[in-house]
Amino acid sequence: MTQLDFKDLIMAFSDAKGAPGFEHEVAKLVTEQSEGLGEIAKDTMGNVYIDRKGNSEDHSRLLIQLDAHMDEVAFIVHTIMDNGMLTVAPLGGWVAHNVMAHKMLVRTADGNYVPGLTVSKPPHYMSEAEKKAGVTIDSVLIDVGTSSYDETVALGIEIGEPIVPDVTCTYDEERDLLMGKAFDCRSGCANMLETMRRLKDDELEVDVVAAFSTQEEVGTRGAIVTTNTIQPDLAIVFEGCPADDPYVGQKAQQSALGKGPNLRHVDAKMITHPKFQRFTIDIAKANDILHQRGVRTGGATNGGAIHISSQGIPTIVLGVPVRYIHTHYGYAKMIDHEETVRLATEVIRALNDSVYDTFSE
Ligand SMILES: [Zn+2]
Repeated sequence: MTQLDFKDLIMAFSDAKGAPGFEHEVAKLVTEQSEGLGEIAKDTMGNVYIDRKGNSEDHSRLLIQLDAHMDEVAFIVHTIMDNGMLTVAPLGGWVAHNVMAHKMLVRTADGNYVPGLTVSKPPHYMSEAEKKAGVTIDSVLIDVGTSSYDETVALGIEIGEPIVPDVTCTYDEERDLLMGKAFDCRSGCANMLETMRRLKDDELEVDVVAAFSTQEEVGTRGAIVTTNTIQPDLAIVFEGCPADDPYVGQKAQQSALGKGPNLRHVDAKMITHPKFQRFTIDIAKANDILHQRGVRTGGATNGGAIHISSQGIPTIVLGVPVRYIHTHYGYAKMIDHEETVRLATEVIRALNDSVYDTFSE
């Protein structure tokens, strides 16, 4: 398999289809693109692990877990109606009014995908009450262009099949602008894989296992299993995190496009270990790596699950700013991916037992 360069890797990850619990296509890409990085394993939940080449026997050295989640916000077929339309249940946090009038791909029982549209009544057929009520997530319907139950079933569509946005990633080099879906967390997947590639021939003082996890968008379920399996001493979570620059003034921005990875001090599920966070910020400064610091009152990552597993795992989150996550289309920049990988690489190179000891002083 051709090894994609960093930009093409991000774009391929963005395009891959991976509803929570149905991450197989993303997992396949991980496996194909991880040649020579270490031992690859998969568990029954679909989590994929790369146990880095050069790690000690039985992980006797300080063990770092890297995490990025493979799933994306999606839907699942709930009912096939008499008229052939699909009612759906959300897999992950959608805002209803962002969902309508977009292209979707519905998986069939034999693994192919059928295009469809998220639809609602045009204004011509809406009552005043319906116009006022607005869109709710349970009013989302998907039309695959059929007119009866039998016609939809004949396409191979069954209840329980996943549905993902139908979007192809593009890149405008002149403006360094990626536009695509699922940068939450495929940006993280690409960054984690690229970090493993850049560390490939390094002599490290630590062991590294990269875990591509499943089902983050439905409550960090995959990461509960990966961290139980790996039992790390420290963790680095790679994410695509919501950019705030469309909404707040320049001075207040904490997650702007083009200004490097966002390092959150807190979110809804984790207070970032202050010493590990400080260590990371100092490394960014010493290496002139762009970075931004954030205090988040909402949202969470797999860090929420990982940091309170086992005996407590100091964890940091490196988030690529992405505009409009949890919708069909987002913007992100290569420079932010590049700076994230530089930072992760330098942090891992600098970690050792004595640094780790200072985290509990
Ligand atoms: Zn998300």
